[in-house]
Amino acid sequence: MPSFDTIIIGAGPNGLAAAYRLATKGAKVLLLEAGAIAGGGANGLAHLSYNLDPRVLSEMGLPKLGLAWADSELATTALSPDGKHLRLEGALAERISGEVSAADRKAWAALRGRLLRFAKVLSPLNQMTPPRIAKGADTPLFKLGMIGLKARIMGAKNFRELGRILLTNVFDLLEDEISDPRLKGALAFDAVLGGWAGPRSPNSVLPWLVRLSGQTLGVQGAIGLPKGGMAAIGAVMVKAVADKGVELRCNARVARILVEGEKVAGVMLEGGEDLRADRVVSSLAPKTTLLSLVGARHLDAGMTTRARHQKSRGGAARLSLVLKALPDFMGANPKDRLVIAGSDRDVELAFNPVKYGRVPERPALEIVIPTAHEPAKDGMHRVSIVAQFAPHAPADREAARKAMLAACLSQLETHAPGIGKLVTSAEILMPYDIEDQFGLPGGNWHAGELSVEQMLFLRPMPGIAQYKGPVPGLWLASAGCHPGGGISGSAGWNAALAMEAAE
Ligand SMILES: Cc1cc2nc3c(=O)[nH]c(=O)nc-3n(C[C@H](O)[C@H](O)[C@H](O)COP(=O)(O)OP(=O)(O)OC[C@H]3O[C@@H](n4cnc5c(N)ncnc54)[C@H](O)[C@@H]3O)c2cc1C
Repeated sequence: MPSFDTIIIGAGPNGLAAAYRLATKGAKVLLLEAGAIAGGGANGLAHLSYNLDPRVLSEMGLPKLGLAWADSELATTALSPDGKHLRLEGALAERISGEVSAADRKAWAALRGRLLRFAKVLSPLNQMTPPRIAKGADTPLFKLGMIGLKARIMGAKNFRELGRILLTNVFDLLEDEISDPRLKGALAFDAVLGGWAGPRSPNSVLPWLVRLSGQTLGVQGAIGLPKGGMAAIGAVMVKAVADKGVELRCNARVARILVEGEKVAGVMLEGGEDLRADRVVSSLAPKTTLLSLVGARHLDAGMTTRARHQKSRGGAARLSLVLKALPDFMGANPKDRLVIAGSDRDVELAFNPVKYGRVPERPALEIVIPTAHEPAKDGMHRVSIVAQFAPHAPADREAARKAMLAACLSQLETHAPGIGKLVTSAEILMPYDIEDQFGLPGGNWHAGELSVEQMLFLRPMPGIAQYKGPVPGLWLASAGCHPGGGISGSAGWNAALAMEAAE
């Protein structure tokens, strides 16, 4: 008799969310984490909260366990090298301060309203299992129909506009409506954050709507910074699962998923230890789970091919700086989320070379200074940066890493003259470093690109979009599944619900 009925691989937000939900329903859960601590991408990769799942927040009781916010509606400052910044306050830039024409303010207010309205219509999708299209009107398909109906109820004009927005690219959308380059730059950056797509790439509005469908403390489109940083979210989730009796083993890297008699029998750890359970839930990227842990010999040829072809290119680098003093971004509020994007055209220009494995001259940067909110004991300042775009497969990794660091520092120097002299340490993780350290294939934010052909019932790939893996007893629960990535726990929670429904 196995002592655990369920083994979960990976203790990132999705593994933790799935573990909690399954344990509350009586499962005996063993959670295996390769790293020294649990939390996954919340430890050192993610720096802001966009879409923490409301079910995870409230049902796991995270506030009671100590999750608090340094700011739950962080303002964004779109930096300009001449110091004429734009400050965007409230969820999705509700209020703009700085010199912007009345026409642009009006156009943005209208476009913002539409985007939030459409994102709200889409938000129930985050909490559902994608429908199995081939099987006719099962429950999820019915729910999908209801969402379609809600979209239709908005009226013919809005419905048409939703269709247009879903199919267009963000560059054209912004060019049609707004003229201020700073505003267009900051918005285009938001739209392509974490994706392998420039503003002019097809369907680049859709992933933006998906992110906007998330919320922070009930406010749709708001960006949060937890006290203690994003690692605090991982830490309280760990407390929550411990309270439910989940056994967490860190430094336990799974080398293989055991398949016996054509069904899952447990896992083997690196080092050879076998752990048995009839149900194995992987919160690792589907590609890694299927090709590395299960292995092609247990999959049919079609599934292996689909897994190999699943697109997983990461375009974001992560830069961490330690500074002797607080940098001055020409008067910008250091507590804000600072964005260096230039214009929508500049964001596109930062993507172009990356397509061919090269480093952009002027990457777009999202900068957070956590020590402006909570001073560090050593008196130093920490600056955390997501840089877009960075090549995931350059010809020379070391040279690309150096060039990317230099390009980021040069961008920073242009917007905060003298910052370079304050830097005492700089660590950059390129997409390939992120793959090595965090296990996200290609370093992709979503553990598999969140592009239109890899969404909903096509995510992670046709045939296994309902969290049930291709081998009996195997379940998939990572960001690579619907609805995608972020420190949200949505995929893990949804997967646990799908397992309950299957029992
Ligand atoms: C550059 C970058 C910046 C990002 N910034 C943000 C941000 O600011 N905000 C945000 O919300 N999201 C951000 N993300 C996305 C976010 O980090 C991921 O989408 C999220 O971590 C996915 O959660 P997960 O639980 O599916 O997987 P993960 O968080 O990756 O967790 C998987 C866990 O499995 C463990 N593991 C791996 N292999 C094994 C194995 N063989 N055996 C056992 N355990 C294993 C890993 O150590 C890890 O703990 C960013 C991503 C990138 C690439």
